[in-house]
Amino acid sequence: MGLIVILFFFGLAGGIVARTKGNSFLLWFTISFVVPFLGLIAAALYRSDSRELRRQCPGCGRVVKLHDAVCTRCGEELEFPSVAIASEVATARQRTA
Ligand SMILES: [Zn+2]
Repeated sequence: MGLIVILFFFGLAGGIVARTKGNSFLLWFTISFVVPFLGLIAAALYRSDSRELRRQCPGCGRVVKLHDAVCTRCGEELEFPSVAIASEVATARQRTA
């Protein structure tokens, strides 16, 4: 019985950590509940790609993550850009507003 309570709090902690980072509470609650220690660590380390800034490849026009050094489509080497495209989350907010 005590173990269930401990697992529940691990799940809760993982879920809250994930929620503050913009990830799914329920998903990370479940992961932290099933694999308590690793799940909680993963929730703390996991970052949502959709929040990252993006930029456009000058070679093929594909939108890639800001931190990518090489284009994932054409292999063009990418300088760190002076202009970034808003993250997917920010773009989605603008659309719904
Ligand atoms: Zn490219």
